[in-house]
Amino acid sequence: MQAEPQPFDRVLSSMCTRPHPVAREAAEQFLATNPGDPGTYPTIAALEEDAIAMLGEIAGLENPSGYVASGGTEANIQALRIARERADVDRPNVVMPESGHFSFQKAADLLEIDLRIVPTDRNYRADLEAVQACVDAETAAIVGVAGTTEYGRVDPIPALGEIADSVDALLHVDAAWGGFVLPFTDAEWHFGHAPVDTMTIDPHKMGQAAVPAGGLLVRSSDLLDELAVDTPYLESTSQATLTGTRSGAGVASAVAAMEELWPTGYREQYVRSRNNAEWLADALEKRGYDVVDPTLPLVAADVSHSTFEALRDRGWRISRTGNDQLRVVCMPHVTREMLASFVADLDRLEMR
Ligand code: PLP
Repeated sequence: MQAEPQPFDRVLSSMCTRPHPVAREAAEQFLATNPGDPGTYPTIAALEEDAIAMLGEIAGLENPSGYVASGGTEANIQALRIARERADVDRPNVVMPESGHFSFQKAADLLEIDLRIVPTDRNYRADLEAVQACVDAETAAIVGVAGTTEYGRVDPIPALGEIADSVDALLHVDAAWGGFVLPFTDAEWHFGHAPVDTMTIDPHKMGQAAVPAGGLLVRSSDLLDELAVDTPYLESTSQATLTGTRSGAGVASAVAAMEELWPTGYREQYVRSRNNAEWLADALEKRGYDVVDPTLPLVAADVSHSTFEALRDRGWRISRTGNDQLRVVCMPHVTREMLASFVADLDRLEMR
């Protein structure tokens, strides 16, 4: 086996990163534990409570409830499940901007929810008039994204909260990727800024924990109760998670990473990543590419298909947006040297 099965030195597309060394160590230590069975594995169950307490602090939520999920997909599915259970209508719908992650399509499919996708505005944020026009008495939830997958945009969360309140729907904020950088910006994204009911915030993305460590937070424990089922053969009596047996590695590594990095280490990382994104955006702009101005550490630019493919052939792991732009995510493993080498490759290819 290679020392590092996933070398990160050319990865510019992933929203995951090399785990912090303390997170890696904690993951190894707790590999054989299962927080899904807290009666049998009390140590990891207690660590999960610590994880939720810290996630709550990051997301401005006093007395937080929630759990460490397998990732953002599971947390989003569960958030919509809570909304559906609570809504008690025949055909619940959920209103979401087109910038929402594809995991909501899976959630809608599984839960038989009508997913109403509304356009974004010129700045790639949820269009409030479109959201307003789309909600009705059967709206179970509105989704706002705090750090969109393609452009790193933050939807107007307080205004979405007002619309949700007006139709008695829940507001779910998907901060799967953005949650560990937004505390260091002036964006209004968390429980303290708006009537947020549920949130996805993933330690295994910008939080530098090992996979699998997603996060679901809920404003009050009664929302989590909407998910609980009885668990007759376990030592505990009920379970709110989607999966049964879960990895203690993800939970332990999330706690280790947050204890190590919150807040100073995450702030320093945010500044590094933001500066890198600005540097790359500037470098691309100077070369004549159309660049979407980065607000969080994510850069999108109009680079032709042929150049994109040639960069991939040189080993760069890059991806494209739905609008066909090159997309580079400035994760913690992405250094200035990597970006400089990427731009140098781009220059070589464009000279040919
Ligand atoms: N939400 C957002 C905003 C994302 O960017 C992603 C993945 O990149 C997800 C949800 C899904 O997370 P996961 O891949 O951990 O299930």
